[in-house]
Amino acid sequence: MMLDKTVKAIESIRRTVPEVRLLRDEPMCRHTSFRIGGPAMALVLPANEVELSAVLSAVTSTGAEHMIIGNGSNLLVSDEGYPGIMIKLAGDFESIAKNPEDPCRVRVGAAVLMSRTAAFLTENGLSGFEFASGIPGSIGGAVFMNAGAYGGEIKDVVRSVRVMDPDGSNVREISGEDMDFSYRHSRAQEEDMLILSAEMELTEDDPAAIAERVTELAARRNAKQPVAFPSAGSTFKRPVGGYAAALIEQSGLKGYKVGGAEVSEKHSGFVINSGGARCEDVLAVMRHVREKVYADSGIMLEPEVRLINCTL
Ligand SMILES: Cc1cc2nc3c(=O)[nH]c(=O)nc-3n(C[C@H](O)[C@H](O)[C@H](O)COP(=O)(O)OP(=O)(O)OC[C@H]3O[C@@H](n4cnc5c(N)ncnc54)[C@H](O)[C@@H]3O)c2cc1C
Repeated sequence: MMLDKTVKAIESIRRTVPEVRLLRDEPMCRHTSFRIGGPAMALVLPANEVELSAVLSAVTSTGAEHMIIGNGSNLLVSDEGYPGIMIKLAGDFESIAKNPEDPCRVRVGAAVLMSRTAAFLTENGLSGFEFASGIPGSIGGAVFMNAGAYGGEIKDVVRSVRVMDPDGSNVREISGEDMDFSYRHSRAQEEDMLILSAEMELTEDDPAAIAERVTELAARRNAKQPVAFPSAGSTFKRPVGGYAAALIEQSGLKGYKVGGAEVSEKHSGFVINSGGARCEDVLAVMRHVREKVYADSGIMLEPEVRLINCTL
């Protein structure tokens, strides 16, 4: 039934937006930082708002399962894949532009990576985004998740967000205050908004000083995190009154392994793909970690990683 709807949506996309790039049976392990995930029935790469709107109209009118992804750095996709349509922004969504009326404001497309954004801002002597330079996601994913690190959160720099309604019908600008940002949360999550771009406000500073801070934070990240292995970052959310990594370590789970999935020895908040891990291996590790930490501390860890077509 669901597959029929997906087939209808693919036909509709090919008919109504023939110019859009569409890949059939695309392995999601190619689009996730975990390097895990079976094929999506289709991956569509709209290059502009017109194409995105037409794609959303096709998937919503057929009732096909669909979701948007950014850089796939916070996703765990099932080994069976995804029985619907994945949407990944490309083309125009990869642009960065300075606001001609305000030298401290920059509009960044949702598909632009955080690292590229940080490099652009550094070159242009704009400070305030250094905290985010090492987060391996896109601007769209970062706004959706209100990504944060080293005391900063995306909400600190985002002044407004351009969004499209889930059925592709309407585009509007929402102020940062109205995005209801909180820890790893934004209003986009409640309303299934599609983030198209964000306007950020920075402060002017010496490019060399900004570059130095970016380099220092990268060194801190490399020293603490298992950056040499594929992962999706912190597996669990920070629980109230504690740290997931500390609780996991206290439960003696560092290095706990199922198949190719392992609680990192370097940072126990990360489950890593130490080689050939399947989604089921990661889920098995996550289930065991949750049970043991709960038994030891009474705290139930909640996943930060978004589970796609799979459950704990
Ligand atoms: C090594 C490593 C380190 C990390 N460190 C950090 C860290 O320090 N801080 C932190 O916060 N996170 C961290 N993460 C997690 C991850 O990078 C962030 O959550 C990031 O913001 C996800 O962005 P993404 O583009 O990869 O989104 P994806 O993982 O592709 O998607 C995440 C969610 O965002 C939604 N989404 C993506 N793009 C859009 C869009 N345009 N419109 C609407 N919804 C969208 C997706 O539907 C999905 O629900 C880390 C991950 C890794 C692998």
